[in-house]
Amino acid sequence: MPARLVPDSPAIASASPSLASSPLLGKSLDELTEWVTAQGQPKYRGKQLHQWIYERYARSLSDITVFSKAWRAEIADVPIGRSQLHFRSVSPDGTVKYLLKLTDGHIIEAVGIPTAKRLTVCVSSQVGCPMACDFCATGKGGFLRNLETHEIVDQVLTVQDDFGRRVSNIVFMGMGEPLLNSKNVVKAVRSLNQDIGIGQRSITVSTVGIPGQIRRLAEEHLQVTLAVSLHASNQALRETLIPSARKYPFTDLIEECYEYVNITGRRVTFEYILLAGLNDLPHHATELAEMVGGFQSHVNLIPYNPISEVDYQRPSDAQIQAFVHELEKRHVAVSVRYSRGLEKDAACGQLRAQKLAS
Ligand code: SAH
Repeated sequence: MPARLVPDSPAIASASPSLASSPLLGKSLDELTEWVTAQGQPKYRGKQLHQWIYERYARSLSDITVFSKAWRAEIADVPIGRSQLHFRSVSPDGTVKYLLKLTDGHIIEAVGIPTAKRLTVCVSSQVGCPMACDFCATGKGGFLRNLETHEIVDQVLTVQDDFGRRVSNIVFMGMGEPLLNSKNVVKAVRSLNQDIGIGQRSITVSTVGIPGQIRRLAEEHLQVTLAVSLHASNQALRETLIPSARKYPFTDLIEECYEYVNITGRRVTFEYILLAGLNDLPHHATELAEMVGGFQSHVNLIPYNPISEVDYQRPSDAQIQAFVHELEKRHVAVSVRYSRGLEKDAACGQLRAQKLAS
């Protein structure tokens, strides 16, 4: 008797090609409506599907009880695209770190940061990171792959569901370099905005700067905040901290930031890690003010979060304040970002490193 071929997922293998779909998460209401109508379902099923995915956190199409049993059985294997919670850890200040397991088994990190008024999610854009910045825990672990759009959106739904509270802000400051994954990041931004209802102005894309990609982002005409990881006040110093800076002259990077401001009308944030004795001296502040002064920008100082692989030092509070003062004297808009959630699991990227090693 000839062996019978049993497909892994009968519904996908035997049904119309429209069923062999990529994950549904990240698709807009129009796309979901198109998807349901392609299967002979009425249009309103698209709206129901959208609600169940984005508001009721459905993980499987078989959970959607408003759909007929017969249709649910047919589509049960089409993936929504939710990842699995692998590990969750709460800091005393209420910050929650999540390790999420993707369908291929890779682990990524997302963080929920609550305040009275806001719930911010720090999302990853890649599994690992290829930039290898010297002070960054993620960079020390190497790079595996880009995240798909649904894997980015999933992080936000996970946090929103877990907190039982609407996410108000997103920062692309988790693992990875978002502008090496621009296509999926831009799609995710649109979905976070249109499908989950997060204001574009409340979404920050943080980049170390990839030649041509800041301009490309500007041309998407989104209203997101661009944050550029400068971390140094001149090219030579930047190259010692950020290997990719060798191929991207400081002045070219600043020029692209100017263009971002001109095209979008949004100011740019410059992130600047403070490393004691290395880039936090008064002359660095003077040089930085010259570089970023004169156009719509803001400097966000980040006192270094120690990681075990390198021995940079975090400056004292007095040193930090002195640096702030030098910038303010030169009329640079400046703020200091103290990382939260450090008490228990240390800096971003380190939780994953610890857990993968254990
Ligand atoms: N690839 C993006 C997102 C990285 S993480 C980027 O480079 O902007 C977001 C911010 O955290 C970046 O500014 C990054 O340089 C900073 N960062 C990384 N490691 C850090 C550490 N140990 N201490 C303080 N900030 C750190």
